[in-house]
Amino acid sequence: MGNVVLNLEMSKINEMKNYYAKQLVDKNIPGSVFAAKTPACMITAYKSGKVLFQGNDCESEAGRWGSPAGVPSKKPSAAKGKGEAKGDLPPGIGGMSAIGSDEVGTGDFFGPITVVAAYVRKEDIPLLKELGVRDSKDLNDEKIISIAKVIKDVVPFSLMTLKNEKYNQVQRSGMSQGKMKALLHNQAILNVLEKISPAKPEAILIDQFVQPSTYFQHLKGQKAIANKDVYFSTKAEGIHLAVAAASILARYAFIQYIDKLSEAAGFKIPKGAGSQVDVAAAKLILSKGRECLPSYVKLHFANTDKAIAIVNKKRN
Ligand code: MG
Repeated sequence: MGNVVLNLEMSKINEMKNYYAKQLVDKNIPGSVFAAKTPACMITAYKSGKVLFQGNDCESEAGRWGSPAGVPSKKPSAAKGKGEAKGDLPPGIGGMSAIGSDEVGTGDFFGPITVVAAYVRKEDIPLLKELGVRDSKDLNDEKIISIAKVIKDVVPFSLMTLKNEKYNQVQRSGMSQGKMKALLHNQAILNVLEKISPAKPEAILIDQFVQPSTYFQHLKGQKAIANKDVYFSTKAEGIHLAVAAASILARYAFIQYIDKLSEAAGFKIPKGAGSQVDVAAAKLILSKGRECLPSYVKLHFANTDKAIAIVNKKRN
């Protein structure tokens, strides 16, 4: 178990509190603003501005929000030129021809992780805006599906789906979710680079889920894109439409996969990691047996034990 400390402004901490609204826990920790528990991480934010992330996946959870003290800030900055500083964004990146990548499903008990890298040429940016591409968090499933169906034929992209069986297998072997994501993003981006060749993007932007240095550490021994060509930013969907498009396509793939799981289960599979998924998993165990779980869920989530507890209660 690791831990990461960030120093953040109160406005950011309030934004986090909203973001984790469904996972808040009442811990009454002196001096704290809130405490939240995700499947792989405990988060405590203090009035001093310190935010503590503890747990197996703390580095990637913390990576959503910023960089630990002592590490140079990875916040967007127009001060540096393209090249050395991979954490800093080049000026005018939003108007460049770029590959963007994003993932979905990491916090969902049911279903896979889907990662999409998508290439948006600068001349297609107005068209994508016209088609309704924007931050997917502002879009409901229905809207996501209708936009995705159109843009999948407009933008070159690569979808990587880490299905539950495989996810559970690599997770058991000791791989962190952060590393899984790094490998998937890297492969999706390489696929797109190959698809669009000989054209080359002016920038590659990854929706940041981990420190850039950790990202490249995860890729050691892999064929990877050179550091200097890759940029990271939290909330990258708002920085370049390529990330927004990638996010929409990743969510579309995830929704479709959940639909397939629902069909196999015989009832509607819920998203997220709240109590509704415990109930659904218990229902699945009662109808199909515990052996079916690895192909439906991320087994290491605390939801597995909760589902089993529900089943045991019902059987007694
Ligand atoms: Mg993301």
